[in-house]
Amino acid sequence: MTPDIKPIVAGNWKMNGSSGSESMVRELVSGFDEQLQSKLDMAIFPPAILMALVASWTKGSAIAVGTQDCHANESGAHTGDTAAEMIADAEGTMVLAGHSERRVDHNESDADVAAKSEAAWRAGLVSVICIGELEAQRRSGETLDVLGKQLAGSVPGGATSANTIVAYEPVWAIGTGLVPETSDVEEAHAFIRKTLVERFGDEGGKMRILYGGSVKPGNAGELMAINNVDGALVGGASLKSTDFLGICEAYRTMA
Ligand code: PEP
Repeated sequence: MTPDIKPIVAGNWKMNGSSGSESMVRELVSGFDEQLQSKLDMAIFPPAILMALVASWTKGSAIAVGTQDCHANESGAHTGDTAAEMIADAEGTMVLAGHSERRVDHNESDADVAAKSEAAWRAGLVSVICIGELEAQRRSGETLDVLGKQLAGSVPGGATSANTIVAYEPVWAIGTGLVPETSDVEEAHAFIRKTLVERFGDEGGKMRILYGGSVKPGNAGELMAINNVDGALVGGASLKSTDFLGICEAYRTMA
């Protein structure tokens, strides 16, 4: 946690979900009660083709929706891609940029991620910029160097606490059930905070920094209490309303 920063728990459905996900989303809408809403924000990132449908199910609730990627351009000959403006038009308000699965599967570079974030801002969306080290990089002691390089290359100069969220996701912890030691999460988040403050001043001090990687109801309380952890980016456990709400519950009793 960071004093005076409202955390956010965000669900990345990856390539999961269908028109049959309505009951699950409606359980999230009813479970995200006023007390929880006062403690944290909630967002869900379904596949792009489902986002408008999910937005229709969450309409009128406090749950934000977005997509898992966008193209840097507003329109044009980019088969299969989605412009940030289209996401906004479909009532999305956020987009993930540079998730490790896109960096690996689609060869996205830091420069690509920065361009996608600028596109998100152009359309009025919040960009959730994902960074994180590979297992070999952690083992060889390169974690902070990798994070520093990714922050420098992926977070454009126009970032503010209103238009940008940074998600720290150790790649080796995503979908594996492995979670770093508390002290390692604390060290990484302190480094990210320091880097953001050096570059963006007060705004860097107010930006939300999420932890992602095998967050579950059983470990959320411990992870979310770590200094500078301002919420979670959740993959597998965002696919069941009881699990996702169980993670949010970690905040109910936090001051
Ligand atoms: C993710 O997809 O961003 C993620 C953190 O996945 P999981 O929670 O399944 O590790």
